[in-house]
Amino acid sequence: MITKIIDEELIQAAKERILDAENVVITTHVSPDGDAIGSSLAICHFLRQLGKGAVVIVPNEMPGFLKWLPAADEILVYKEQTKISKELIANADLIMALDFNTLSRIDAMGIDVADAKAQKVMIDHHTNPGNFADVIISYPNISSTSEMIFRLICRMGYAPEIEKKIATCVYTGMMTDTGAFTYNSNSPEIYSIISELLKKEIDKDYIYRRINSNFSVSRLKLEGYALSEKMVVDEKMGVSVMSLTNEELTRFNYQKGDSEGFVNIPLSIKGVVLSAFFKEEDGKIKISLRSRGDVRANDIAAELFDGGGHVNAAGASTTDMTLDEAIKKFNNALPKYKAMIDQELSKEEYK
Ligand code: 5GP
Ligand code: MN
Repeated sequence: MITKIIDEELIQAAKERILDAENVVITTHVSPDGDAIGSSLAICHFLRQLGKGAVVIVPNEMPGFLKWLPAADEILVYKEQTKISKELIANADLIMALDFNTLSRIDAMGIDVADAKAQKVMIDHHTNPGNFADVIISYPNISSTSEMIFRLICRMGYAPEIEKKIATCVYTGMMTDTGAFTYNSNSPEIYSIISELLKKEIDKDYIYRRINSNFSVSRLKLEGYALSEKMVVDEKMGVSVMSLTNEELTRFNYQKGDSEGFVNIPLSIKGVVLSAFFKEEDGKIKISLRSRGDVRANDIAAELFDGGGHVNAAGASTTDMTLDEAIKKFNNALPKYKAMIDQELSKEEYK
């Protein structure tokens, strides 16, 4: 049984705008992940099925492990195809903003979206939604935006029209945002939805392999290097810190997305409840945080680096400090979070 979590008025408000639209731009957050691309392509296929013009524009390059998704090759990259992207955004009558809560999450493209005459519909599962959209569908308790897209299409009355390619994109986002259903995934309805997706003939094992068994040799060597040479675990504290410099990334022939998932690995150590990963990329310091249970990674990312995210998966990026300074700032702040970490570590599962 799949319940009606999303408010009926919001469904109708989104449906009205979707049915009225002719040209839709779908956009999602910078450094898009599986949920960002999965939800965007799912709604894109659906809109095209309805006879709408629909295009996905991402702020910057997407990782290679998602490029096999149906129509991923048609995605425009704002940073590289700026002129055409600006035109499409200016001429759209509907902009769908997926998997992000504020325009700052889409970098320079945010200015164009803010200025656009289009109606705007936000569909997202991050806390604290901004108010840049005409319709704001924000449900932080739903574990992926892709699941929200599935719910939206069904509630609009188009469940029978969901084709395998839409189902494949939805499943990809649901799977990647829950670590293949290992966190944020205790809602029974997730599995009711998966059951529906399987009836649409998705090959979930194939999807898993395309995402997770798709690495280059150098990516795996970079992972080995990061773990053996760059991971610093404070077992007493329950915290791991790992970092990679620009030079190290270049040495291992780093391609966009190659370090995806590195931050999760230290959490597989017994008694590690907070993992931080710092990397120099595109002239910025990118910070990823992952945590267990009640250790609030999003609060730490917000307080230290003006970032955000979910309780157990958060991030930030900064140009205000060097890699070493960012690591130092994190380490120096740890005493402040010790009580929260100790509280988590007192639970039965770490004994
Ligand atoms: P990741 O570590 O995979 O880059 O990001 C994990 C989560 O943290 C993302 O899904 C997103 O919710 C959040 N996040 C990552 N980078 C940023 C950032 O620069 N700003 C904010 N507000 N959130 C971020
Ligand atoms: Mn997401």
